[in-house]
Amino acid sequence: MLFPPEPSYDYDVRKLVKYYETAVEDILRELHRIDLTNFQRANAIATLKSVGEILADLNGNATEWAGEAITKAATDGIARTLITLGVAENAQQAQSFLLFNRINRELVKAATADTQADLLAVTQNVDRKVRAAVRFATAAALRNNLPKGVNATASIRQAITADLRKKLGESVEVGIIDAAGNKWKPITYVDMIARTKMMEAHKEATVNEALSREVMYAVISAHGAKDMCRLYEGKVVKLDPSAPGDYPYLYNLPRRDIFHPNCKHVLSPIRRLDSLPDDLLELNGI
Ligand SMILES: [Zn+2]
Repeated sequence: MLFPPEPSYDYDVRKLVKYYETAVEDILRELHRIDLTNFQRANAIATLKSVGEILADLNGNATEWAGEAITKAATDGIARTLITLGVAENAQQAQSFLLFNRINRELVKAATADTQADLLAVTQNVDRKVRAAVRFATAAALRNNLPKGVNATASIRQAITADLRKKLGESVEVGIIDAAGNKWKPITYVDMIARTKMMEAHKEATVNEALSREVMYAVISAHGAKDMCRLYEGKVVKLDPSAPGDYPYLYNLPRRDIFHPNCKHVLSPIRRLDSLPDDLLELNGI
């Protein structure tokens, strides 16, 4: 038995990250165009309007991306299940008679909405920070210019302007703190979200498809991982906690070790454990 290779979603992730990178560049350009020596409320409103349009476009692209990417990953998980169970001979054949059962349709809907919400939170965070920086710059520019030359010399004004530029630039780079308390730069965070959500959809669709076929075990894929995942490569897990045998239940595995953010491991469902290749039989003490 030969398991299919692990999927790579680099291309899909790159596509989403590119949307964010482009939006950040566009926002920085808008911020850079601000004339800090004569920055009035009207200018600030115009800048924020442009920034709002850039972020609205970004949200549209991210929302569409999430729908496509999650569907693709779930499809791949189902196809992998059909192949490892011998229902289909190869990926092409698996695609041709692949169906989303009810639970996988629900999964795609929920996972898409979840991914969209996470991506939207990134945009909202950037929006909030940019707005705050622009407001701050408006107030500072006003102070700096009134009355000219009395409370601010040219060099002081220059220093303040440089500082404002820096603050504006940093506003798009501000960190995002995830549920586990880790701080991420927006682009790195988007990359992680995209990768992790796709792999999760792959895994969940795999489990749903396997269970709907009354398959209760799966093998964790292997690529020679260096992190804690290495301890789980090739290991049998139960997809149903009531399945016979002394194997860990998938959802009891420690998330900080395996199926963590950015994890590349997938599941290969298996109906009969005695059909595993010799090395995996030995590894799992079967
Ligand atoms: Zn892993």
